[in-house]
Amino acid sequence: MSSADRLRADCPECGTHKWLYVKATYDQALKFEQTDIYINHFILECAGCESVVYVRRSADSEFFYISADGEQELEVTQIQFPKVSPDGHESPKWLPELLYVDKTLFKVTTQTYDALSAGSLLFASVGFRTIFDYGSTLLGADSSLSFSGKLSKLVSLGKIGAEEKINLETVVEAGNASIHRAWQPKGDDIRVLRNVSDAFVYRNFILNRDVLGISKKIPPKKRLGPLSS
Ligand SMILES: [Zn+2]
Repeated sequence: MSSADRLRADCPECGTHKWLYVKATYDQALKFEQTDIYINHFILECAGCESVVYVRRSADSEFFYISADGEQELEVTQIQFPKVSPDGHESPKWLPELLYVDKTLFKVTTQTYDALSAGSLLFASVGFRTIFDYGSTLLGADSSLSFSGKLSKLVSLGKIGAEEKINLETVVEAGNASIHRAWQPKGDDIRVLRNVSDAFVYRNFILNRDVLGISKKIPPKKRLGPLSS
């Protein structure tokens, strides 16, 4: 394996299999019994959007294949962080901002997206239910209330509307089915659950805070004085 100026890797913003510039490298050559192990570590920067990712490429002398030219080539395994899901299950761009809103909400949401990008749709479904459960208490619903009680409380507080209540009921029921009956949503189902959960979190915890920030910057209306004659 040799270092290069750029590598193919996945960019969290631009998508999978993009060109990224090599900004730093660290190479290791290890020996385990009779096996030689080669590891290359890379810090890469996307040529398109300047996102930075870490890539680890490894190979060992036991695993090789014969190329089209008849050459013996080492089998290279490439992993990277952050991982980019080809199914469009990347975490939302506003996710890091949640850390400044509430650490537990950030943790629950992050782990739900980890499950989603790993293809663990059952656990992602449970995660969306948990995001609603915990998020509702931050918005003023008592944690001792049932899910139905929490939904009604959020409507009475003006935090969600009647239609969003129905959508969130589906998120809760899906999560219940995953917990109690090991129900695993399909790709399209999980996309809907994700959209409902994202809308709930984004509007209540990110957008409302951003709007408050703008409203503080808007200069007050000037009071009109008496018309001069
Ligand atoms: Zn990019």
